[in-house]
Order: sequence, then C-alpha cells, then structure tokens
Amino acid sequence: MEASLGIRMDEPMAFSPQCDQVQADGSLKKHEQNFKLSGVKKDIEKLYEAVPQLGNLFKIKDKIGEGTFSSVYLATAQLQVGPEEKIALKHLIPTSHPIRIAAELQCLTVAGGQDNVMGVKYCFRKNDHVVIAMPYLEHESFLDILNSLSFQEVREYMFNLFRALKRIHQFGIVHRDVKPSNFLYNRRLKKYALVDFGLAQGTHDTKIELLKLVHSEAQQESCPQNKSHVITGNKISLSGPAAPKELDQQPTVKTVKRPYTNAQSQIKQGKDGKLMKQSKTVDVLSRKLAPKKKAISSKVMTSGVMRKTASSCPASLTCDCYATDKVCSICLSRRQQVAPRAGTPGFRAPEVLTKCPNQTTAIDMWSAGVIFLSLLSGRYPFYKASDDLTALAQIMTIRGSRETIQAAKTFGKSILCSKEIPAQDLRKLCEKLRGIDSNTLTLTSDVQGPAARDPAFSEKTDHNVSHVIQQTPEAQHPGNSLHKDNNGCGGSLNTDTISLEGWNEVPDEAYDLLDKLLDLNPASRITAEEALLHPFFKDMSL
Ligand code: ADP
Ligand code: MG
Ligand code: ZN
Repeated sequence: MEASLGIRMDEPMAFSPQCDQVQADGSLKKHEQNFKLSGVKKDIEKLYEAVPQLGNLFKIKDKIGEGTFSSVYLATAQLQVGPEEKIALKHLIPTSHPIRIAAELQCLTVAGGQDNVMGVKYCFRKNDHVVIAMPYLEHESFLDILNSLSFQEVREYMFNLFRALKRIHQFGIVHRDVKPSNFLYNRRLKKYALVDFGLAQGTHDTKIELLKLVHSEAQQESCPQNKSHVITGNKISLSGPAAPKELDQQPTVKTVKRPYTNAQSQIKQGKDGKLMKQSKTVDVLSRKLAPKKKAISSKVMTSGVMRKTASSCPASLTCDCYATDKVCSICLSRRQQVAPRAGTPGFRAPEVLTKCPNQTTAIDMWSAGVIFLSLLSGRYPFYKASDDLTALAQIMTIRGSRETIQAAKTFGKSILCSKEIPAQDLRKLCEKLRGIDSNTLTLTSDVQGPAARDPAFSEKTDHNVSHVIQQTPEAQHPGNSLHKDNNGCGGSLNTDTISLEGWNEVPDEAYDLLDKLLDLNPASRITAEEALLHPFFKDMSL
C-alpha cells in the first residue's frame, strides 16, 4: 500500500505522450529512467545552489511534481528530534510575479492549515528564488484509484472537497484550478488537502489582502491599453463535418485570430536590492493552435447587455457576421475582453469558457462537479479539450445546447451553435460509462472497453454527443485486467475484485447533487456550504 502511494510527476495527461510510448526494449526504458534520475539529481543540486539555506535544514529526496509554474520536491527535515519529518518544497519559477507569489503564500497562511486546506510551515527566498515548505501529504494518483474506489469513498472524497472549498470561499478565495492533482488524497489515512493557490483570485470582498492586488495586476497585464497590442474578435466559430454544408464551406476557426495574452514577468534584482519587474507578452495561441475538426459549430459573443458594461466592447458597433460562423473585420478589430481564464480547459465553468468578466467562487463548484462526474462515470479526465470552445462544445453535449445558450444569456453571453443537442440524463450517462446495466443493475460484460484513462470526450472523438455515447462500448469494470499497462504511467485498473461496492445502488441524491454542481448558471449553482448540507451527505458530519 505504502509503496503504491503517490510519488508522481503531476497529472498523467500532461505526460501522456511519454506514457503512451510502448516500451519494447527494456534496456531503453532503464536508460530513460537513469536519464530522468540524473535530471532530478541535477535539479536538486541546482535548488540547493539557488537557495543555500535549504541545505542546512532539509535533505531533498526526490522531485514529486513539475508544472508550468513550479517544481515540487519531497524533503525530510533534519532539525527535528525523533522521527524525520516529511516536507513538500514548492520551488516557484523565478519568473513568477512577486505579488503572485506573495498572494499564493497568503492564501496558505491565512486560510490553510485546517479543513483540508494545505498549510505552510516555512518560506525561503534568495534573490528571485522562492521555496514554500509545506507538510508533506503522501497521496494517490487519481487515475490509478478511480476505478477501485467504493461508492462510500467517493462520498467521503466529495464531502472533504467541499469542506476545503467552503473554507477558502469563506475567505473570498476563488481557487480557479480545482482538479484532482490539486486535491491531494491519502486513501489509507483518509486525509485530504487542497493545494496550489498559484492561480487563485479574490472575490470583490476577499479577506486576502494580496488577492486584491493580484486581480488588478492580472487585468493590467492583459489589458490592451497597457501597451500590449492584443486585439481580437470576441466571436469565435467552430465548424466541421457535422455542421450544415453551407457552414462547412465558411472559413473555419483556423482563420480566426483569437490570441490571448499570458503576461509573464521576470524579476530582476536592481542595484538597491529592490525587485523590479520585466514584462513580456506571450501569444499562447501561436503555441496552442486551434483544433482541426469539430462536429459542432458554435460561436460565443458578448451580448449587447454586456457590451455596455464591458468597456472594451463598443455597444453600438454592429456587423454582418452575426449568426454566421465567419468573423468579420469589425469583429476582428474588437478589443480583447479582459476576463480571467486561468485553469484547465476540461474543468472550466461555462462562464469562464465564455470569458464572462464577473466570475465568482461558483467556478470552483463547477470544477468540483467535473471531478464528481469523473468519480461517478469512472472516466478521467472526463473532458479533454485543448481550447475553450471545444470544452464548451463538450459541455453542451452533456448539458444540452439550448440549456447552455439560455444560461449564457443570464451572464451576458450569446452562443451560436450549428445544431441542437439534447441534454443527457446524468444517471444513464454515468452508468453507461461505468459499465453498469441500468435495467439489471449489474456490471455489463467484461468486453474490452474504454479504460478509466479514456476521456469521455477527447480531441480525437468528434463532439457529437450521440456519437460519443453510442460509440462507447461496454465500459470497463474494475476487475478487467486487460488494461493493466506495464509502463507505470497509471491508468491501470488493478483490483482483483469485481465487487460493485455500492455502485449498483447509487442513490438519486448523487445525481441531484451532480446536477446542481453542473448548473450552467453560476448564479443558481450550489455553493460549498449548501453542498455539505445536501441529502447526499445525510449521515456525514463536519
Ligand atoms: P503547480 O502549480 O506546479 O501545479 P502544485 O502546488 O499543484 O504546483 O504541486 C504540484 C504537485 O506536487 C501536486 O499535484 C502534488 O502531487 C505535489 N504536491 C504539492 N504540494 C504537496 C504537499 N504538500 N504534499 C505532497 N505533495 C504535494
Ligand atoms: Mg497544481
Ligand atoms: Zn462581426
């Protein structure tokens, strides 16, 4: 058990190209492992050099996470008498903005340390290197355990996630990146911890002082007036094979410029020792090109109501591309609407995907809903989309196009969709994906089907839900060992039992809660506090 617990290199998705590689040659694998090991060793040496005070206090053992903005190491504290204490050291990339770093730290120190929110023990800085030391929580890989969790464990997991979210939301913290790799789970000890406030923002009345600054800072950085020359249409269109013929012949998304800026800052130390900021603008789109084929043609724009409030969008300027999937020159010259978009596409709420400027703690509840969807359906990631419009199309296929369009209206966005897609019944969807026969409530045959690691949606599949759902063969059940992969990259369904463990009697309350989390309208979406009181958790107490 102990050995299988979580030392992982971040999410499997991020590493999937490597994971998918078939290791035909064992020696090659060994060579790669050695190579990786020496890479980690070098990184550890570099960290000791960059922040020498760490050497006096910690023995850095391994690298346990590597993301865009940080590397996380497992260390032991040498100062302690008695047993060694395990510590997680998060080394933030030196290009992070100083306010961003300070805000992350303030979230941990003010809201953290209780109710399943990670706390902080120490923080170290030398020049532009910052290291946050936290208690280490050994944790599972979500993908590895997804299909062996009992229904009761899923209830406990969600309950504990809501405890953490209630806690941070009370402080006016919007986490913005709620997903399994940021919610650590130790199955054996039943311990949980929400981590990673690297993208957090404050509500208008946030109690985290530095989050007030982060917000305006982020807006300044991506604001077109501030010298960055980002101009974009606020309409986006997608079209593809399943779209009506005439739409198909229109220019597709490839011709649409939709850059957004990812302002990066570099910290340079001035002569007087003060930190100075150097900003540069990175066009993410040039790296992350838009998708190729889409079954649904959809388009999002700021409606007239919203234009009045969003200064970057002239209210009166009409154009001739409305209700087409073209983007006219007027629209191409519209300024970018400033709205926070951080996070992972598959977990983003509709109001985030459509760049609604007023985003609240409700966006975290949506993300929790997507996690719940994975837990109930046995698929992770549930949505796999590399861009926002694809993610939106995927949401529509579950929640319905009409419903999505209607909800978007409430927050001032109008979405055009080339065809109507009905909403799915959540229970039927989850049971089908999990491989439970809804009539007999037994597991369907162990025919080779999609494994936990197969997203319910992916870029490869086209986004016509009836297609996706109908194409889904009998889903995998935990007992099937066909999908055990031997490259150690997760995705294995490794229990010996094919016990249903409560999955044959999922109560309606589960799907009712899921429905309330995946409420397309953020204003009526369930809050963390309300979720804890939902009948789904009736015999559980705080
Ligand atoms: P990033 O911003 O790079 O995503 P995170 O704070 O999410 O950084 O940390 C990355 C990974 O490091 C996490 O997914 C987790 O696996 C591991 N990690 C982070 N903090 C801890 C901790 N306190 N204990 C154990 N592992 C941790
Ligand atoms: Mg993270
Ligand atoms: Zn136009």
